[in-house]
Amino acid sequence: MPIASINPATGETLKTFESLTKAQIEEKLQRAHDTFSVYRESSFTERTTMMLRAAEILDQDKSELARIMTLEMGKPIKGAIGEVEKCAWVCRYYAENAQQHLADMVIETDAARSYVKFQPLGPVLAVMPWNFPFWQVFRFAAPALMAGNVGLLKHASNVPQCALAIENLFSRAGFPQGSFQTLLIGSDAVESVLRDRRVAAATLTGSEPAGRSVAAIAGGEIKKTVLELGGSDPFLVMPSANLDQAVTTAVKARTINNGQSCIAAKRFIVSTVVYNDFERRFVEQMKALKVGDPLEESTEIGPLATGQILKDVDQQVQTSLAAGAIILTGGKRVDRPGNFYEPTVLTNIPKGSPAYSEEIFGPVALLFRVNDVDEAIELANATTFGLGASAWTSDEAERDRFINGLEAGCVFINSMVASDPRLPFGGIKNSGYGRELAEFGIREFVNIKTVSISK
Ligand code: NAP
Repeated sequence: MPIASINPATGETLKTFESLTKAQIEEKLQRAHDTFSVYRESSFTERTTMMLRAAEILDQDKSELARIMTLEMGKPIKGAIGEVEKCAWVCRYYAENAQQHLADMVIETDAARSYVKFQPLGPVLAVMPWNFPFWQVFRFAAPALMAGNVGLLKHASNVPQCALAIENLFSRAGFPQGSFQTLLIGSDAVESVLRDRRVAAATLTGSEPAGRSVAAIAGGEIKKTVLELGGSDPFLVMPSANLDQAVTTAVKARTINNGQSCIAAKRFIVSTVVYNDFERRFVEQMKALKVGDPLEESTEIGPLATGQILKDVDQQVQTSLAAGAIILTGGKRVDRPGNFYEPTVLTNIPKGSPAYSEEIFGPVALLFRVNDVDEAIELANATTFGLGASAWTSDEAERDRFINGLEAGCVFINSMVASDPRLPFGGIKNSGYGRELAEFGIREFVNIKTVSISK
């Protein structure tokens, strides 16, 4: 796939870029290596000043940065502005908390003094997806840079302008040249970068096949990885739930970012007691969503990010329908230029169909009816993924059963799953391993060095 910005709302090619040559990659790797040897010695005070400046620039330039995102990958502009604001938040969070998260940890032993010291690892390769083209990068970069590592970004090939804007932003914030570099390369060039002895570790946010590939290569080189992969999050609704709130949140949780979010609620598992009511209201609200130009403030659903995603989503829907699923609304592309797909709701989804077991990365909701909590938990866990889960109930016993029984990296009760710099984020099963954000995230790419000084 060439490295190109193509406006998914119109199909217009905005800009194309040449992939870096081998010599250019070599230059950037050496620069990362050389920069690390100096940058690792910088103080938390120095890093904090630069990270706070990055937050300020994000705030100042948010309209322009949001517009780049919307033009490259079709996110509604309101969401794009919110995304830039969230990046400023994560910069401030780590600027204010990194030193404390990485402070020496004294542990009493027989020695005169023993403690744990956290030290940076070196250049970390970040392979990132297009769906939250700023947020995904910042939630890696802010803790990595505050810990004293340096970053090498291999962004998705359809968001090169976002990738370059982020590199530029860190440079304007005062971070030394070489501490955060964008590599405009295709996925075929990832292997040689990852195998390079100067690269210490890697993080990948993206699909399961990409995660498997990067983790296998890194495993061969004995390099640490963090993987943030796909999800097919359940959204469980029990009879005691506040149905008004549950329905409105369900629609938002499924359609945020045009339905292209790893933690979007994808499977709605609803008690038979309230199922009919939920289905009717949910379908009504999905039908009422405003599909249109993502640059318009009032647009709720923009285009899918690429023509390939549009094809994949439609094929998953059509195959599921052929296998016996029933369509309640939507189910086809919108008749206009660009990669628009109708907000879609399916029910009666047969086991073995794509809608039952695969992640659908678009505005397609899957409704399931269950008899009780046991059945709800069993169905929620009947997936290879384990990223997030949202459960709706006002019954405390039910709530505790969901918290204990759901196989996921997080459980949100009576709200939708969302990332927050203060809370760890990540999955289990085929959704990946390792954690981003909070104290857990900044400790992923550090040497946890034990120090023992004898009496
Ligand atoms: P993708 O195709 O896996 O691409 C993600 C990144 O990996 C891109 O930079 C891509 O580069 C690169 N890549 C693809 N195949 C590779 C390979 N074999 N070796 C090395 N790099 C490779 O994923 P996507 O379609 O862009 O993103 C959607 C997926 O990301 C969904 O499954 C979603 O759930 C997941 N996601 C997870 C999280 C999370 O936090 N858990 C967050 C957001 C998204 P090219 O663009 O050059 O191919």
